[in-house]
Amino acid sequence: MADLTRRDTLEAGAATLGYALGAPAVRADAATDVIVIGAGVFGAWTARALQAAGRKVLLLDAWAPAHARASSGGESRMTRGSYGADEVYTRMAWDSLAEWRALSARAELPLFHRSGVLFFFPRREDYAIRAMEAHRRLKLPTELLDRKEMARRFPQIDFTDIEIGLYEPEFGALMARRSVETLVAEFAAAGGRYRRAAIAPPQPGRGPLARIVTTAGESIAAPNFVFACGPWLPKLFPALLGPRIFPTRQEVFFFAPPAGDDRFSVGRLPNWADFNEGDIYYGFPDLEGRGIKIAHDRHGPAIDPDAGDRTASEHALADVRRFLERRFPALRGAPLNEARVCQYENSANGDLLIDFHPDRPNLLLVGAGSGHGFKHGPAVGRYAASLLLDPDFAPEPRFSLASKGLRQQRAVH
Ligand SMILES: Cc1cc2nc3c(=O)[nH]c(=O)nc-3n(C[C@H](O)[C@H](O)[C@H](O)COP(=O)(O)OP(=O)(O)OC[C@H]3O[C@@H](n4cnc5c(N)ncnc54)[C@H](O)[C@@H]3O)c2cc1C
Repeated sequence: MADLTRRDTLEAGAATLGYALGAPAVRADAATDVIVIGAGVFGAWTARALQAAGRKVLLLDAWAPAHARASSGGESRMTRGSYGADEVYTRMAWDSLAEWRALSARAELPLFHRSGVLFFFPRREDYAIRAMEAHRRLKLPTELLDRKEMARRFPQIDFTDIEIGLYEPEFGALMARRSVETLVAEFAAAGGRYRRAAIAPPQPGRGPLARIVTTAGESIAAPNFVFACGPWLPKLFPALLGPRIFPTRQEVFFFAPPAGDDRFSVGRLPNWADFNEGDIYYGFPDLEGRGIKIAHDRHGPAIDPDAGDRTASEHALADVRRFLERRFPALRGAPLNEARVCQYENSANGDLLIDFHPDRPNLLLVGAGSGHGFKHGPAVGRYAASLLLDPDFAPEPRFSLASKGLRQQRAVH
């Protein structure tokens, strides 16, 4: 990879334009060490990590940090440590939690609600046993609960046909869009440059990429580039990532709790997931009055993040309502507050992608959050920065491009 301290690939005529968040355009003469394209959760944490390492970073987004169609643009995202045998993600989630909490403590409004997470299972699934083993190894304070104990603690939930649950008291809900906006504002306040620009797909070729070009025709040079473009990655690198990242359409619903009833608030109802033989449903307590969120984790049909229809479907609504009324009898007939359509950007098996472009040694690809990436943002940012900056850094093989399959076969939950 290119040496970040080396500026000789920077072209004098390609001085970057910098924008402070919300401020008018200002010309910035300072050299740029890294351009990060994409201000979703991965790009924002990567920009922050590079900045913390003393690098001059320009962060770009075609729209805005965690905008409405970005995968990070939802109201909330769950953070949990349960990943079955996939301890690598348990560790990343746990490591990231401290940074989320610190960011939340600095913010004006909460970014993290420590609502607890309850993952329940119809029987002693291998997933639950292996998750519990990983949590014990990592000394996470996760509790293994039987049905009687779950029913005692959470009487709002009907645990019929459920045998055990894993309760993670330290985890909970991240306010997704607000978190990314806060992070980018911190990045800008600390001297990082953020601006709106849509980057055209880089020309194919070999060797270090010298510059990127905006769709308005402006050329911006830098020694290193990070493309953290979520579900747009296959459009930017169609030959390489078109067959390896599969954006799918996902629907999310918010229902109103009964008036005056606080059984569904943070502190009473945890974040939850019903393993349901691997066909997972999950939900959130009524965060900040938005409503009780519920979604079916099954992959939806393929979607184009630009042109895909964002109208929620009747059949998805009926599906989650059926589930909700079965597990939460007090929510029978609950009014729908809101429905949103988002997209997962799945790798074949659900593993993240954090690796260099095979033909471009100064171009790092970061993405494939695969419906579970948000919580790992801080760890992803640190990992990406280490890959760029530390020649001795030992990469995790599961995040490599080489490990990415061509056929969707989800394995990470
Ligand atoms: C419905 C739903 C529920 C989820 N639930 C959870 C959960 O509970 N817990 C969890 O941990 N994760 C969850 N996830 C996954 C998580 O939200 C994603 O993995 C994560 O947000 C991906 O972030 P990203 O930064 O890779 O992509 P994005 O947030 O999509 O960011 C990519 C950015 O790149 C920009 N961009 C793209 N192309 C260009 C270009 N050419 N030029 C400039 N900018 C460009 C886009 O505008 C966008 O802002 C969920 C996802 C969805 C959709």
